[in-house]
Amino acid sequence: MCIVGRWKRNRPATARKPETVVGLHSFRDRKEPGDVSLDEIPAVMLSWQTGGIRMLYRVKVEWNEEDGGIATADLGQIECGSCQSAAEVGLKLADAKPILAKLQQVVVTQQLRRYCEAARLCPACKARKNLKDHRIRRLDTILGRIEVDAPRFDGCSHCGDKRVISPLSRLLPKRTTPELHHLQAKLATELPYGRVAGLLRELLPETGGLNSMTCLNLTLAVGQEIEKELCDEVEHPKVRPETAEHLTVGIDGAFVKAKRSAGGQRRQFEILTGRVERQRGRGEVFGIVRDLDRKAKQKVQAVLRRCGRGPKTDVTVLSDGEDGLRGVVGWFGKCQHRLDWFHISRRLERIRKDLLYLPATDDFNRRLASHSKNLDSVKWTLWNHGIEWADGSMKMFRACLALRAWDEPKESLKRFQAVESRLDELRSYLYSNQNSVRGYAEAFRWQERVSTAHVESTVNQLIN
Ligand SMILES: [Zn+2]
Repeated sequence: MCIVGRWKRNRPATARKPETVVGLHSFRDRKEPGDVSLDEIPAVMLSWQTGGIRMLYRVKVEWNEEDGGIATADLGQIECGSCQSAAEVGLKLADAKPILAKLQQVVVTQQLRRYCEAARLCPACKARKNLKDHRIRRLDTILGRIEVDAPRFDGCSHCGDKRVISPLSRLLPKRTTPELHHLQAKLATELPYGRVAGLLRELLPETGGLNSMTCLNLTLAVGQEIEKELCDEVEHPKVRPETAEHLTVGIDGAFVKAKRSAGGQRRQFEILTGRVERQRGRGEVFGIVRDLDRKAKQKVQAVLRRCGRGPKTDVTVLSDGEDGLRGVVGWFGKCQHRLDWFHISRRLERIRKDLLYLPATDDFNRRLASHSKNLDSVKWTLWNHGIEWADGSMKMFRACLALRAWDEPKESLKRFQAVESRLDELRSYLYSNQNSVRGYAEAFRWQERVSTAHVESTVNQLIN
């Protein structure tokens, strides 16, 4: 199939005969301006009505039929003058949309005609089934809503089959092509439903019935399909021939406000989101409502199996240390937990911020630099050597703070105590996850994940 475009001259009624047309094929001798064969040299006629060149493009599609003949169809014509400004350069979206829609109509009609012809043959005896009736069905595609012929065939009389079949209903039961379905669902996960409908209406040829409700229903339908797939995997686990050597699972939680109930109460529920990566940067995301979904844990484990988790797979779980988060992965096989560096780093930065509120003295900047250096030392030792070395650095930090606090008046001690309580909180957080605070520097050198910062983007993607 090929598309051909031809210029067709359009002589205005008041146009004068051009004296010279250099480099262009002239039609001065023809009786009617429209009597131009498409096989002739492309031509353009000068028009004096607008003071510039006015060109009429006729777009036509050609395709080869089964018998070797060539069929053609007109897709439309576009009038395009010589440009006087940047806004006039090129085809406009409004001009292109109807042409694309007509092209889609031609392509889909030809495809479905051949598909239905092939489906008409009995798979057992290859006899041609009788036509029962013809129906016209609307089909939404990415390039517009089109109407297609949907024949129904009787069962095979030779084989005694009495089932009436509708090939089109079998091929496209939702009357929407998967590409349009995918695009709508993808945009609906990132934009408000009304915006999605508006955007698609603006960019695509008329698909019909696009509004915020249809986008909402479509997104919910996609969610139900994903849910069904996961439930099938939970009930009937599939054995994967190839399992992954190593998987990294980053998990984080987020709270989402629910709609007000009938009693006017507003509650919130916790969503666990995560990303399973077989290779860095490529993975599958998941989101579950832990307290409302009884199968939440099994679903996460089903996602892991789908990503290639087997009995010998080495799994690294990154989380903020909460037992419930780690537990959803399941502690079987080779599984180790690493405390998320993102959460540790955030606690260290809070301490750094509190240092700014220490009592102002003449040598405040020098003292602040000294405290910051001690805090950097805590961070560095934790990153490179683990919790025992970091504990030593924390003691040094505390000693310096105490020394500075010694000379301060009593009412300023609260600010030093605030920093100390932050340090206490950090220390107890680290020691409560003692077995998971290790190997950050080495993991980083091996380009392994050390934080769930990439999961934060998943939280935004899934919830916001
Ligand atoms: Zn048959």
